[in-house]
Order: sequence, then structure tokens, then C-alpha cells
Amino acid sequence: MSVDAEKKVPASDSSERVRCLIIGSGPAGYTAAIYAARANLKPVLFTGLQMGGQLTITTDVENFPGYPEGVTGPEMMEDFRKQAERFGTDIRFGIATSVDFSSKPLKVVIDNSVEILSDAVIIATGATAKYLGIPAETKYAGMGVSACATCDGFFYRGKDVAVVGGGDTACEEASYLAGLCKKVYLIVRRDELRASKAMQEKVKNTKNIEILWKCQADDLFGVNGVEGANIIKNKGTNEEEKFKIAIDGFFLAIGHTPNAEIFKEYIDIDETGYIITEPGCSRTKVAGVFAAGDVMDNTYRQAITAAGSGCKAAIDAERYLSEL
Ligand code: FAD
Ligand code: NAP
Repeated sequence: MSVDAEKKVPASDSSERVRCLIIGSGPAGYTAAIYAARANLKPVLFTGLQMGGQLTITTDVENFPGYPEGVTGPEMMEDFRKQAERFGTDIRFGIATSVDFSSKPLKVVIDNSVEILSDAVIIATGATAKYLGIPAETKYAGMGVSACATCDGFFYRGKDVAVVGGGDTACEEASYLAGLCKKVYLIVRRDELRASKAMQEKVKNTKNIEILWKCQADDLFGVNGVEGANIIKNKGTNEEEKFKIAIDGFFLAIGHTPNAEIFKEYIDIDETGYIITEPGCSRTKVAGVFAAGDVMDNTYRQAITAAGSGCKAAIDAERYLSEL
């Protein structure tokens, strides 16, 4: 760090000065922390609201190497946390609410109050579940509408539910709910699933899952909670037809939005909201700011790829810091 750079944002009394700040506690953030701590960067990591990230809302993880018998998402993320702490990562609960990357040191404000000044920042803020945007989702929030089957499925034991989406999450949620519920409708807007072949087969071979192809949920109805959904098939075509399904639970599984909003004034974001990094590495267009995991990965979005990119971000940060 040059003396000039130090002077640009003088530390105030309420500021804390660190060398390496990691934002996010999913596989990317914790892996970056393990590498940064072992490189003696003394990382400070802020967990955000969802400590452990997206995998804390799932059950079995069977595709992460090192767990031959599989592991639950929460258990795996607890292992990640312990490993990051073992090498001295300072893990704190807090949300990054704004940033100023226009000068050095880089500034990140936590919970709208505490200012952290850091030489390097690793963004590992992941992604958040998307909703359809129909008013009924808000009306019935907590009364039949959910974006997490593993969190809320328990409440719908023996009942009929619907899952919206055709990706891996939707298929996984539908399979999970099929084990608890009487019937699961999978509402798919196209005539094919986006999910991996293995997940597709699983869903198609589960007796109490019915796939509603080329269908969209238009509205929900019910008096004290969800009692059904209005479905439109072949929407906008000559073959359009409308029908109702009786359900008690309505689960969204239509993807996620990258949590990059607070950074977009300073770093490049693509048309779908993902952070753009230099090809093959974690560097963003601001020197000293690195991005890892789902927030910059529109293609793979897996725990193992997020962890791998967290590793790359810490190595990139270490090289950047050693050159200052
Ligand atoms: P995330 O896990 O999304 O973590 C983001 C972190 O950033 C969170 O800790 C959050 O609190 C924090 N954060 C966000 N904003 C802020 C902020 N402003 N300030 C501070 N912190 C912030 N992948 C697999 O490989 N195998 C599976 O079996 C599998 N199952 C899945 C099941 C479900 C239901 C879902 C939704 C995903 C699944 N995935 C699976 C995908 C996997 O969870 C993600 O690819 C992975 O968690 C991404 O890791 P990440 O660290 O980039 O982000
Ligand atoms: P995704 O792959 O982006 O799929 C989203 C699905 O929702 C798509 O089928 C999409 O339809 C549909 N959709 C989007 N907007 C919609 C709308 N407004 N109305 C109706 N349907 C809508 O998201 P994901 O399933 O959450 O998966 C994210 C990533 O995590 C993927 O990379 C996935 O492989 C990974 N993941 C892995 C596992 C696992 O390995 N076990 C489990 C879960 C997730 P279209 O297909 O028509 O676009």
C-alpha cells in the first residue's frame, strides 16, 4: 500500500482497518477465508443474514468430494466454518450495506454503521431466491408460499403442494416434498426441464409427482391460506387453457438473483446481474476487489465451483497484496 493511497480515505474513529475483508459465508467465502488465513492475511469475514449460505436450506449434498456417504448442507457448512476459524479467520455476523471502491483503502460499511477499510475485498455474496412477482406471493407469504421446501415442507405433510420451476432446485424440492406430501405438482413453463438428466429421471419416476408442462401459475386463492392455484397452459397461444389445482403449499424454485446490487456502481455487472471478473481469475475491474462463487458464476453455480473460486480469489488477493 502506498502512502498516497493510504491518505485518500483517512480512517475515522469509527473505522477499522483490515488487510483482507471477505463478504459472505457460503462455500466461496469460507474457502477464501481458509486460504487467506493460511497465507497470513488475517481475514475478517462478515457472514450476512444467511450464515453458511444457500446450502444451509438444503438436506443432502451428495456431490461434494470428500463426503463418500453424503452430508447435509448445514453440517457441511459447519465444517467449512470450523476449518476457516481453525486458521484464525475472524468471523463476524454483519451485512455489508454499502461500499466505496473509488479510492484506497477500499471502504465497506457494515450494518449501515461500522466502516471497514481494507486493502483487499473478496465478494462472495452468492445469490437469493427469485419470486414470480404475482401479488398473491406477498399476500400468502408464510401462509402457503415458500421459496424453501426443506425449510417449510414439514408443514405440508400428507397435503398437496406445487413447485414452480424446471431446474435442479425445482426437481430437488419436488422430490423432497414427494417424500412428505400426498401429491406434488411441478409447474414447468416449457415442455422440457432444465435440470440435470439424473434429476429429471428421478422426478419423472416419482409416482406422486405430476409435471404440468407448458404451464404457469397466474394467481393463488384461499381464505386463511393457500387453497389452490389458477394455472394457464400454453399461455398466449391459440391453445391457451385455464384450470385450477387444489394445493395447500406453493413453492418457488425458479432460480436466484446474484447479490451484487451494492457493488454495481464500481464494478462491472452483466445483463443478468452477475459480477464480471477477468477471464480465468477472480479480479474485478477495481484493483484489490475480487469476486467468487455464485455471485460471479452464471454457468456452474455449484458448491464445489464456488469453493474453487473462493480459493482462486484468496490466492489472487494474496498476490495483489504482496505486490503493494
Ligand atoms: P451462497 O452459498 O449463496 O452464500 C452467500 C453468502 O453471502 C451467504 O452467507 C450470505 O449470508 C452472504 N451475503 C449475501 N449478501 C451479503 C451482504 N450484503 N453482506 C454480507 N454477507 C452477504 N450445489 C451443489 O454443489 N450440490 C448440491 O447438492 C446443491 N444443492 C442445492 C440446493 C438448493 C436448495 C440450492 C438453492 C442450491 C444448491 N446448490 C447445490 C448450489 C449451491 O448451494 C451454491 O452453488 C453455493 O452455495 C454457492 O456458494 P456461494 O458461497 O457463492 O454463495
Ligand atoms: P436454474 O437452473 O436457473 O433454473 C430455473 C428454472 O426456473 C428454469 O427451469 C426456468 O425455466 C424456471 N423459471 C425461471 N423463471 C420463471 C418464471 N418466471 N416462471 C416460471 N418458471 C421460471 O435455477 P436452479 O434450479 O435454482 O439451479 C441453480 C444452480 O444450482 C444450477 O446451476 C443448478 O445446477 C444448481 N443446483 C444443483 C443441485 C445439485 O447438484 N443437486 C441442486 C440444486 C441446484 P426455463 O428453463 O424455461 O428458463
